[in-house]
Parts: sequence; structure tokens; C-alpha cells
Amino acid sequence: MTVNLLDFDLESLTAWCETLGEKRFRAVQLFRWIHQKGAADFAAMSDLAKSLRGTLQEHAEVRALPVLSEQRSADGTVKWLFDVGGGNAVETVFIPEDDRGTLCISSQAGCAVGCRFCSTGHQGFSRNLSTGEIVAQLWHVEHTLRAQLGPAGAGSGPRPGSTRVVDNVVMMGMGEPLQNYAALVPALRTFLDDHGYGLSRRRVTVSTSGVVPMIDRLREDCPVALAVSLHAPDDVLRESLVPLNRKYPIAELLGACERYLPSAPRDFITFEYCMLAGVNDNEEHARALVRLTQGQGPAGVAWPRVPCKFNLIPFNPFPASGLVRSSRERVLAFAAVLQDAGIVTTVRKTRGDDIDAACGQLAGEVLDRTQAAERLARRRDVVPIVAVPPRAAGLASAPGSAA
Ligand code: SF4
Repeated sequence: MTVNLLDFDLESLTAWCETLGEKRFRAVQLFRWIHQKGAADFAAMSDLAKSLRGTLQEHAEVRALPVLSEQRSADGTVKWLFDVGGGNAVETVFIPEDDRGTLCISSQAGCAVGCRFCSTGHQGFSRNLSTGEIVAQLWHVEHTLRAQLGPAGAGSGPRPGSTRVVDNVVMMGMGEPLQNYAALVPALRTFLDDHGYGLSRRRVTVSTSGVVPMIDRLREDCPVALAVSLHAPDDVLRESLVPLNRKYPIAELLGACERYLPSAPRDFITFEYCMLAGVNDNEEHARALVRLTQGQGPAGVAWPRVPCKFNLIPFNPFPASGLVRSSRERVLAFAAVLQDAGIVTTVRKTRGDDIDAACGQLAGEVLDRTQAAERLARRRDVVPIVAVPPRAAGLASAPGSAA
């Protein structure tokens, strides 16, 4: 069995090279060939000794993921379906913009969290991806698009003054990245490494549904930008949308965000908020979010204050969810409440709609080991979504209070 060199960050590649009797600078050369030049053929690595190239050929490989499909949206978004074996496939999405290219990467085949509004969650969970499978998504996209799109400044290829196509990585594809922590961190380190992809910490974002202990570990191990899927201003509503809230309620989640901030590359946390018609989208919900993030908890309780930005996400409906997208007027009114309170709020542009590549639509192919569909259907019957009419007084209280 050969070793997959995409599984290694530079530190572990150095350790592996040392077992071959090679010094660190050889590991650096090899790392640069793989990640900066996209090389998979050891014979082409001309500045490595011939004997080392022979050893690598015998014992190692750069294991790319087989591409099952590549779809291009009218708006330039590209979606790949990668085969990860055992009947599973994961999706990766590239979103080009005028000033940057963003890649949305998957961390698991499926997801065990089971958020009500997410296609991946409805598919259930099969397994964690390895570090190599996470890194292979960036490796493939960066080097394939660089070759396809031509020199800097041409089309949606690298921008003038830049040699790369992917400027931002967001761990927002299939899976909860912080439930695959051991594989995630070496992948993040490879994205950040100057000998790898050289992305800044600000341009690598981990998005989580709120795995509190792992937020604390990420702060210590590799503090990149953090996005938290909030989706509700109180525990009752959030539990009906994000089941993980039962384990890590909002107060604990905000506490972890507050602890993360001193190490974070930005001085705010991004809160993702999926706008669901009649569920979490009225102005009382928005006012409750303002109180929640500005340190106004229940009377007499010390409450975290979390400088933040809100990203409002138009819901992308799918039949099994039983949910509906909020109207544009409702989204704008909601955004206005947050903005009036001084919170920077953006409404995410929907990209790649025509190829099902928009947020919450990634489904891939998952051999579910968790009976997620049945579980979600049961929860849908037993725990109905808590819809709150506008001006409901209950939302004025703190997290944990039912509306
Ligand atoms: S939103 Fe994220 S955490 Fe929730 S089910 Fe989907 S992939 Fe998993």
C-alpha cells in the first residue's frame, strides 16, 4: 500500500521524509511540487535526486479523487462530484467573483448533525473524509482551473497580480468539519502553509453548527476565520432546526465564540442565518438576535458579548424539508433591524442555482449509515418547527425561553 502524500501537512511530510533518510529541505521541495505546481508525477520533480524519485515512485503517490461529474452554472459557478469510494461521492463548489475565487470544500460523506434545512443533513452520514480527500478537492480545482483558464487576468482565471485561482477556502460543503477534527487540522495547515497554498488565515473559514469543545481546540491549534450556523435566537427554535443545539445550547456556543475572538484572524465572528418563511424570519427574531449578541442575557446572568457579522442566507427549498424561502421583503426588513443596531449584515447572493450548487443544496451521494431520512421525518412529526408570529412578546426574553 502506497502512502498518499496529500494526507501530510509539511510537518508530517518532513517526519515521513526523515524515515527515508531525507532532510527537511527535501520535504519542502516535494511539498512545493505537489501543492504549488500541482505535480503528481515524481519523475517530473527535476530538482529531487534520482534515487529519491525512485523511492517515491515505489512507496508514495499523490492520490487525486476521481471526478464523477463537473457542472458549470450560467453564472460561472463550477461544481464537481468526487468519488470517495464505497458508494459515496462528495461535492465541491468554485464560486468566481470579480476580485476573488472561493472554493467550498466538503469534510464528510454526508453529515450526522441533520439540520432541518440542509440537503446533506437529510442524506445521513457515511464517513469522515481523510486529510488527503479534503486537500485533494483544493489540489484538483486549483490546478485544473489554472490550466483551463490560462494566464493571470484571463477570464475567471487568476486575477492580475495573482498566480492562484482559489483565494478563499470555506469549509462549508458537505459535513460538519469540527466533527472530523483530526483530518481537518492538517488540511487547514496545508492551505495556510507558505510552501503549500499560502492562504491567509482570514481567507480560510471553518463553518460549524456549534461543536463547542472543538471550537476551543481550533482556537489553540489553527485559529482560522470562524463562521457559526446560528439560524435562531433561542434554544427552542434552534433545537428544532439544528439538533446539535440540545448538546451545546446557545449560551455555551456564544461563550466559545467569545473565547475564540482573541485568537481569530478577524475581530468578529460570522453568524450564518438561513431565512425560513414564517419560522425564524420576523423582526422580533432579528431584535432578539441583537440582544443575544450584544450581551443582554437573562437578568442576573453573565452573558457573552460577541462582536459579529450576520450573513443572511436565502433558503434553497427541497421537498423533504417542508420549509419555504423567506420573501425578499422579509429578508431586507430583517437585515435592516440588525443594521440599525450597528451589526454588519449581508444577504448572500444565490450562486449556482441552476446546477444545485447553492448553499444547503449539496447532496453528493451518501451511503447513509444513520437512517437520517427516517429520523428527520420522525422529528418533523414530533418536534414541529416553532413558528412565531410577528411581535410575539416571548422573543424578548433570553435564549432558552420559548417563543
Ligand atoms: S448545515 Fe452543515 S452541520 Fe447542518 S446538516 Fe448540513 S452539513 Fe451538516
